[in-house]
Amino acid sequence: MRLPPRFPKSGYAITLCVLVTLATAAPLWPSELKITYLANEGVLLDCQGKKVLIDALFRDSLDDYMRHPPEVQEKLETGKPPFDGVGLALATHFHLDHWDAGAISRFLVNNPGAVFASTPQATAMLPHSLQGRVRALWPDKDHDVGLKMSGIQVDAFALEHGKTQNLGYRLLVCSEVVFHLGDAGASDQNFKPVLQAGHTDVAMVPFWWLLDSKSTAFIKDKWKPKHVVALHLGATDKESGREIQTHWPNAWVCTKQGEARTF
Ligand SMILES: [Zn+2]
Repeated sequence: MRLPPRFPKSGYAITLCVLVTLATAAPLWPSELKITYLANEGVLLDCQGKKVLIDALFRDSLDDYMRHPPEVQEKLETGKPPFDGVGLALATHFHLDHWDAGAISRFLVNNPGAVFASTPQATAMLPHSLQGRVRALWPDKDHDVGLKMSGIQVDAFALEHGKTQNLGYRLLVCSEVVFHLGDAGASDQNFKPVLQAGHTDVAMVPFWWLLDSKSTAFIKDKWKPKHVVALHLGATDKESGREIQTHWPNAWVCTKQGEARTF
């Protein structure tokens, strides 16, 4: 006896086709990038658990600049939530409000899968025993340098910061292009490499870039990021923070440690 099929064959085919299409199509809601402001220019980028720290592994800091609360410092160095599973830590340069050899070493020991990358000056001062997990990035005249870690593409370019090697970073994470400029001076010399590195969705800049007329014009008329984030406001920069917010009403002026936003 021939039993009637519950669904006609064409019904199976259509259902299968729809399922395959849903499974392979681009997600309806793209992943969100969460950025947490920590202190100075220290931030945590989190894209669905893929995490990158930039300029966050310092200890003593400098002068009136910010310091991590002790419990945050401990979690940063020991890989406790929300800093668990950080695959990559970057520093723009070796100044003590961005970088500390002890903090970076302890972070690497406690995060066996993580890599630290920075300028040759900043990486040379780390212990020999950890050099296998350290990448020195320094572009030559004609070529940028970069690396790819757990699906996050990082390109580095040199930006002037006095006599200290300073890297700007361009990251492609959660489909967002994010820039971090370190302590780059707001100078013509620095505008060119930033522009050459390409368009940006989220521009994290030292706050002085938003007070200077030349860099303001550069950002508004040439670079044109979708979002602007002002970093490095210290305890004595409250008035600058207010001034920036007046002139840049849509900018995220980072003054509250631990504040997070999604992009
Ligand atoms: Zn600094």
